[in-house]
Amino acid sequence: MAVAYRATRLFDGISEGVMEDGAVLVDEGRIVSVTPAEDLQADVEVVDLGDATLLPGLIDAHVHLVWSASAEPHALVESESRALSALRCANNGELHLRAGVTTVRDVGSTDGLAIEVGRAVELGVLPGPRVVAAGRAIAMTGGHGWFLGREADGEDAVRRAAREEMKAGAGCVKLMASGGVYGHAEEPGSPQLTAEEMGAAVEEAHKAGRKVAAHAYSPEAINNALEAGVDSIEHGSFMDRATAGRMREQGTYLVPTMSVYAAMAEKGPELGAPEYIQRKTAEVLEASREAFRLALEVGVKIAAGTDCGAPGHPHGTLPEEMRLMVEAGADPAQAIRFGTSAAAELLDSSDELGTLEEGKRADLLAVAGDPTSDIGDLRRVRLVLRGGVEVARGGLP
Ligand SMILES: [Zn+2]
Repeated sequence: MAVAYRATRLFDGISEGVMEDGAVLVDEGRIVSVTPAEDLQADVEVVDLGDATLLPGLIDAHVHLVWSASAEPHALVESESRALSALRCANNGELHLRAGVTTVRDVGSTDGLAIEVGRAVELGVLPGPRVVAAGRAIAMTGGHGWFLGREADGEDAVRRAAREEMKAGAGCVKLMASGGVYGHAEEPGSPQLTAEEMGAAVEEAHKAGRKVAAHAYSPEAINNALEAGVDSIEHGSFMDRATAGRMREQGTYLVPTMSVYAAMAEKGPELGAPEYIQRKTAEVLEASREAFRLALEVGVKIAAGTDCGAPGHPHGTLPEEMRLMVEAGADPAQAIRFGTSAAAELLDSSDELGTLEEGKRADLLAVAGDPTSDIGDLRRVRLVLRGGVEVARGGLP
């Protein structure tokens, strides 16, 4: 039976402003209509959320479900059984739901565990967000995060790696175009997979209708990834103006992950994160904010992602990434679009997710207050629906 969710404000994920006293009518897991509450039929069941704002469920475009925010997440995963890691992934998924994140893109998991978590959620075995998983990330031998993914060298091997991850169920492909903050024998800016190697993976992914994310920090690495035709640059912290212009031209997304550097800078020392992680975090922290500002100014497409699971950065922290976006110069409605409709486009899911529109899946978030004027209100979760099913609830009136 259809149920209407009503609140004093409604933000559909695409508009500039909010609808006053709006309602979303939900039936059989989908949105039937989005209307002013006064247009609801008298006999329909209404859940009145009061002084709250209805939004599309949030989408975090960069997570690692297999990691749990410990000082050295990889060491933890290696020290435990895969069964325990899978249970950890499941719990991490639930943390996203409680924060209003109804979809995540997992860009690298040990043994591709996030693919199976996504399957379990779809089968109703687990409560969790929708998961679009890259399976194992693809790195050159000894490249960034090789321990989180798989190594491949040369066009043929990288092409085969992409094909194998998709065969295993990957919904997107993740490539390591440069070094990173984890890993002690590499610098974030140093280029890794070549444009030719990445081009082979991109060709395979695009043939199969899947998007490609590239981890890249320096202009050289970003340009290699752009030459290969990837769909998003993850981190991109040392991006320069010329590179930003090229991203805008090619329609490539930036997923800036500012919150992971803020979290590691703040909590790394007390967690006892290794010295090399702390040193590199300091180098990237301010650069990531500059890159975000530059992307805003140049008009690069942006999607919100957290890199959560990394040291000191727990799952369900997308609202913090969006707060940092506002702190760095975005307006709140824009930041919310980056974490809803824009992220849905990056995930190639715009026809199903990312906005409150008739016919889409009923992934809904209600928060107290008005996050389009105070982005901090995103944390005041009142109700979360995933596919029309209530999955989390805060203090309702
Ligand atoms: Zn990551």
